[in-house]
Amino acid sequence: MLYINGQWCEAQSKETYPVYNPATGEVVESVSKGGSIDAKKAIEAAQAALKPWSKLTANDRSHYIKNASSILRSRREELAEIITSEMGKPIAEALGEINTACDYLEWYAEEGKRIYGDTVPSSSPTKRIIVMRQPVGVVGAITPWNFPIAMITRKIAPALAAGCTVVIKPAESTPLTAIEVLKAFHEAGVPKGVLNLVHGIPKEIGQEMMKSTDVRKITFTGSTAVGKELARQAADTMKKVSMELGGHAPFIVFEDADLNRAADGLIASKFRNAGQTCVCTNRVYVQKNIADAFAEILTGKMKKLVVGNGKKPGVTIGPLINEQAVAKTKEHIEDSVQKGAKIIYGGKRPEGKEFEAGFFYEPTVLMNATNEMKISSEETFGPVAPIFLFETEEEVIEQANNTPYGLASYFYTNDVSRIFRVSESLEYGIIGINDPLPTTAQAPFGGIKESGIGREGGKYGIEDYLEYKYLSLELN
Ligand code: ADP
Repeated sequence: MLYINGQWCEAQSKETYPVYNPATGEVVESVSKGGSIDAKKAIEAAQAALKPWSKLTANDRSHYIKNASSILRSRREELAEIITSEMGKPIAEALGEINTACDYLEWYAEEGKRIYGDTVPSSSPTKRIIVMRQPVGVVGAITPWNFPIAMITRKIAPALAAGCTVVIKPAESTPLTAIEVLKAFHEAGVPKGVLNLVHGIPKEIGQEMMKSTDVRKITFTGSTAVGKELARQAADTMKKVSMELGGHAPFIVFEDADLNRAADGLIASKFRNAGQTCVCTNRVYVQKNIADAFAEILTGKMKKLVVGNGKKPGVTIGPLINEQAVAKTKEHIEDSVQKGAKIIYGGKRPEGKEFEAGFFYEPTVLMNATNEMKISSEETFGPVAPIFLFETEEEVIEQANNTPYGLASYFYTNDVSRIFRVSESLEYGIIGINDPLPTTAQAPFGGIKESGIGREGGKYGIEDYLEYKYLSLELN
């Protein structure tokens, strides 16, 4: 179902498409296939709602956002089932994602009250300078399937708090979670047109957003290729853009690290969501003299990972999103092995009846990875950890930075001077130091280089939804 101007509706075309469960291959539900006309209507509704919504006090907007968050929290269990049904992550991870999603809503419900302006000392005795902040306008939000609830709230929370209205286009594989988010806002009484949901034909919906002169901002999370294309299209109407794109995260283990912690951290960073996050580790760099010890600890701990349907208790690794994702994982492993890597854990599709219809892959560790392998430069988005060996700090920093991406990076050490030296040298927007999970509502998430533009989270995240207006006043 689409949600336009406060109403649940079918797509104009009356067409539908199936949403699949990646663990079983079964159809979960068929949903409306929205396109240009639906997107256009949604944009019109958002534009009509913009003025009254932006004129509300921040406190009033905050109440709506908090109420929606309470509704979502009260439905955690059923929401987690929906997330797992349409994208596969284990229920425990889905529950964690719902908490994170609500954290963003609650954080920005408060932050909206702190959108301060400035008065600036003038160079003329008769002039006064005032700087105001105002909402940027209608926002087009395009989100991916790997965090089907948190990626939506991370965008709509600051947008709504700032006084913007939004048209959301979720990933085609995860519309059901998006529908639940909109249901919660509907029940929270958000005025019609403030939030709209259109899913179906990405290109058509995207183009409608891009050519509209009412849509003043595009916020996108997804692949670098699509992000670049959208940024190019946004130039025609000079929209503001925020882009959270791909990454190729290095995970460095120095000789002085606590190897137990580092192995636990790597498992959390690499195998969460079956390796399908933009901040997941892609390259593991281990100092040569501790590599064997680290590999042994790591493979020992890997045994606790259980592959299966995310709804089954005890499962820690669900299916990948689709067959192409499995094919890419397989291709990266085969290419690496052909070029000299050694599989020291996993390395194939799991066997057995319960895995037959789904898109499963065993968590895999490769030893002796090199820069000639595809896995060293392409994002796998699957459960494979390639281990590269290094000797010196300078060498590993150079290797770690040798990528067009700059989203997340991780390193493990107990040397405080090294912590500062390495942090200052890594060209990444996010650095986890002895911390595999740095994402949180109050901190700025985002990348440099080709990993994106803008930040989401914290006081920084609301900036992207605001314009400056400068008032210059000449006294009598
Ligand atoms: P992923 O590989 O994670 O699916 P994509 O970049 O393909 O990454 O998708 C992220 C989001 O971008 C999804 O909501 C998808 O539907 C949307 N998308 C993909 N292509 C386009 C497009 N041409 N215009 C607008 N949205 C698009």
